[in-house]
Amino acid sequence: MPKKMHLQDAKSEIARPKKMRDINKQIVLNYIRDRSPLSRADIARATDLQRSTVSAIVESLKSADLVEEIGEGTSTGGRKPTMLQIKRGKPVAIGVDLTPTQTSIAVADLSGTVVDEYSFPTSSDAEIMTEKIVGGISKFNDEYRNEDLEVGISLPGITDNAFGTARFIPYFNWREWEIGKKIYEETGLDVTIDNDANAIALAELWFGREKIEKVRNFITVLVADGIGTGIIFDGQVYRGENGAAGEFGHMIVGEKGPVRCSCGGYRCWEAFASETSLKSRFAALNNGAGIDPKSVSMDHLIKLADSGDENAVKSLLNTSEYLGIGISNLIVGFSPQAIIVSGNITRVWDLIEDSLYGVVEKSIRRKLPRTVIRASSLEGSPTLMGAIGLVLANKFSSAH
Ligand SMILES: [Zn+2]
Repeated sequence: MPKKMHLQDAKSEIARPKKMRDINKQIVLNYIRDRSPLSRADIARATDLQRSTVSAIVESLKSADLVEEIGEGTSTGGRKPTMLQIKRGKPVAIGVDLTPTQTSIAVADLSGTVVDEYSFPTSSDAEIMTEKIVGGISKFNDEYRNEDLEVGISLPGITDNAFGTARFIPYFNWREWEIGKKIYEETGLDVTIDNDANAIALAELWFGREKIEKVRNFITVLVADGIGTGIIFDGQVYRGENGAAGEFGHMIVGEKGPVRCSCGGYRCWEAFASETSLKSRFAALNNGAGIDPKSVSMDHLIKLADSGDENAVKSLLNTSEYLGIGISNLIVGFSPQAIIVSGNITRVWDLIEDSLYGVVEKSIRRKLPRTVIRASSLEGSPTLMGAIGLVLANKFSSAH
């Protein structure tokens, strides 16, 4: 059949055979990650790939230091098979985690283990941040340069991965910040960019405790200055049209929250259940002591709650009740297997868990499948792990 061929078509025709190989490589790598130790024959059986194709891919993964042999397995008749596992230690991901106060840049291997890391205070000047981030990545790229190295960036705002752009970072009022493009231009490294809530959802998917790793439908709720949610649907981040899904921080849960939401309204979930609202409640309960909500630190508030301070406990329980209202809305709408809460508030999980479940159980009809509500089990910064997870998702994605 004759067909008009544009330059773009010609390019994709040429790219196709390589692409197929890449996909097969991802499939094999993911099987090894997921089920190791296993043999080449195990992979061929599980994937329906030709035995010779699997062997060729394993050879290339071995020579790229991504996979290693770990001795012989048990024989099912013939020669004992050689078992494989993911090789640790090769830097494959540079994760950049930009938060309103601090920015971290870390290098990690295929298992998500950080091999090098440093942090600096986030500047409100986008140009300064471009310079610092590009400089940091260049330095790591010089030190750890290899063909598998890629960059993942987690940002507190609306991102457009196709263009490597941050469309809007509300905290600093940055618009159309072309950070991904700049990094690519300066270093030649591939860049994946996403918002912090999606990054956290990916981190749970890749690094969460065993139980969560097997769950394919869940929602993460990040309680910070605002509230962000990330939706994992069938083992993938659900981004919606233009990546705008998951803005549940702005769902209406009441008439007038104690603080103003980042969108300017008072009726949003954020206005009722964010850290900012918690601090404001705590300050209001202590109004005799003239506490400014802005001066309240989460560390201080949590320490007080741990020691039984009535106002700290009361403000936490009140906030968790509103957290529960939003969570029950998510459960009613999505019926996910799990809701995973992250942020400082999970440090007092024992204190708030009952009140969370209480609200959720009251509002959800019986006979609906029960959704587990858990505190995140991630260690270190979940958003930094998410930034690394953005890269790992690319390495393993098509088979996950
Ligand atoms: Zn809002």
